[in-house]
Amino acid sequence: MTSEYDLINKYFYRSVPHHESTECGIGDDAAIISIPSHQQLVISLDTFIENIHFPPGTPVEDIGFKSLAVNLSDMAAMGAVPMWATLSVTLPVADETWLHKFSKGFFDLANQYSVELIGGDLCHGPLSITVQIQGVIEKGKTLFRKGAVEGDLVYVTGNLGDAGLGLTLLQSRHKENNHTRYLLNRLYRPIPRVEAGQALVGIANSLIDISDGIATDLKYILQASQVGAIVNLDKLPISEAFDKLAGKDRFKYALTSGDDYELCFTVSRDKQSELENRFKSICPITCIGRVTGDKKLQFIDSQGEDYKLDKTGYQHFL
Ligand code: ADP
Ligand code: MG
Repeated sequence: MTSEYDLINKYFYRSVPHHESTECGIGDDAAIISIPSHQQLVISLDTFIENIHFPPGTPVEDIGFKSLAVNLSDMAAMGAVPMWATLSVTLPVADETWLHKFSKGFFDLANQYSVELIGGDLCHGPLSITVQIQGVIEKGKTLFRKGAVEGDLVYVTGNLGDAGLGLTLLQSRHKENNHTRYLLNRLYRPIPRVEAGQALVGIANSLIDISDGIATDLKYILQASQVGAIVNLDKLPISEAFDKLAGKDRFKYALTSGDDYELCFTVSRDKQSELENRFKSICPITCIGRVTGDKKLQFIDSQGEDYKLDKTGYQHFL
């Protein structure tokens, strides 16, 4: 039987990327990194459990990809540059096919963002994956949930609702075509908006990533900033596939379904043209509303009428 040491070496040790500031990576009892005095360390961790964080049958490569993607999204949501990760994998059996696919998905994304895996753990037990990520940011430059001010414009990157609709498709019998493939890919392989997060430093007033749906996550910005917002439903950015397949539940998905990992941020009006210029070469962004002073989150439909969110099944909201 292959030893734990051999499995770690084979599936998790990689010599590149290697950051100069990594004093010690995989192979000793702990990793050591040095941070220049003008930077701060930004740290986040997420655990992945089957049936809770990913549906059974999720391709194993995608589990590896997404377990890092959600962590990269948290770095993006602070404006930080991701640098290192540690990884804990608990597996019912030391299944090398599984480890091979998982590490392929993980390193596909890690290499794209030059994230160095510097340590972790490998255990026997019910399937569970935990990734901790460490990034850096110039001192004092971090973007927080707090910081939105009355009059700010509310923006989101990319499209909303794709991943939630993808999950619903998965749970129903669906025809395979370009649209359903696109939506499932959005669920399995979210694009962390790392470049976008960094580009917002010095421009945005507040920032969060959308993991639980814009209605929930924008509310976190509003609560932290002690303000409110008006969101125009006809401005919500949706994909062609979503438009074709979401049907009458389109607003429910676009507002409350999770797993999109887009960014939501607020910016003062006088920075709007700088923002739009900067993002031409980064990713699509859409202004969906504005920040108000009354501490309420209000949705307005195309007729200018108040839209009440149906809260059944979404108890985590409000
Ligand atoms: P210890 O018994 O001291 O905890 P381990 O055998 O668990 O040591 O780990 C040996 C080395 O391999 C350590 O540097 C550890 O960080 C690294 N490591 C273990 N599992 C993983 C993993 N899944 N991914 C990356 N590095 C790992
Ligand atoms: Mg260990």
